[in-house]
Amino acid sequence: MKKQKSFRLLFLLSIVLLALVGCKSTSVADENIAERVKETNKITWGVKYDTRLFGMMDIKSGEVQGFDIDIAKAITKKILGENGQADFIEVTSKTRIPLLKNGNIDAIIATMTITDERKKQVDFSDVYFDAGQSLLVKKGSSIQSVTDLDASTTVLAVKGSTSAANIREHAPDAKILELENYAEAFTALQSGQGDAMTTDNAILLGMAAENPAYTLVGGTFTNEPYGIAINKGQEEFLGKVNQALAEMIADGTYDEIYQRWFPNETDGKVD
Ligand code: GLU
Repeated sequence: MKKQKSFRLLFLLSIVLLALVGCKSTSVADENIAERVKETNKITWGVKYDTRLFGMMDIKSGEVQGFDIDIAKAITKKILGENGQADFIEVTSKTRIPLLKNGNIDAIIATMTITDERKKQVDFSDVYFDAGQSLLVKKGSSIQSVTDLDASTTVLAVKGSTSAANIREHAPDAKILELENYAEAFTALQSGQGDAMTTDNAILLGMAAENPAYTLVGGTFTNEPYGIAINKGQEEFLGKVNQALAEMIADGTYDEIYQRWFPNETDGKVD
């Protein structure tokens, strides 16, 4: 008798739980993000917290800083006005699409390359930065370009990045060790777990600037145009983001932010 009661209770609880889960997924898909951000006066951005120059958490101020962050703040102001709030949530290359799909963030601005494969899952804004994949090695390394990566070398890359996939194509014989994020990958390079690290030149430049014992070699061997990713079915919000970007390029806001983070580089700039 008691057993039957608890079974019934369990059954009821499961139904309630299923209903709740069902509600959540429809609400994310059905929601008009353009309308919601206007109502709440807030856009929640998924950004990197460990990538110098793009999105890096500053422990002292407790604030995340970088090119992606400043572009996100400027877009937020263009869409919501001067008092619009930009909130930031940490993503990694691996977690960014799932976090967007689950509705935890409204958009991803996190060194993310526009690819046809990713376009199956998300929509992208116009290009806001042009990068290309390169290699970082310890100064004096015998590796000087991607063609030096053979079966005797280990390359460090980050899970969920285009770099991990691309290196398989460009250096099919090399061993590849994939880490969770860029902080871990660079620590692995420093501790000798790999002979080279690979990702976009602009990310590697940030690491080399902080760690003069390391240097970029071999130029770039892919094109990595960065876009802002937004959930599918959010054409209105995507349109607003693209309009904000175009205005920022036209009125000099984009140039000002670019200069702040890349004063000596012109390669990444879009116009
Ligand atoms: N831009 C490349 C990508 O989207 C590498 C940088 C990253 O992992 O975010 O995968």
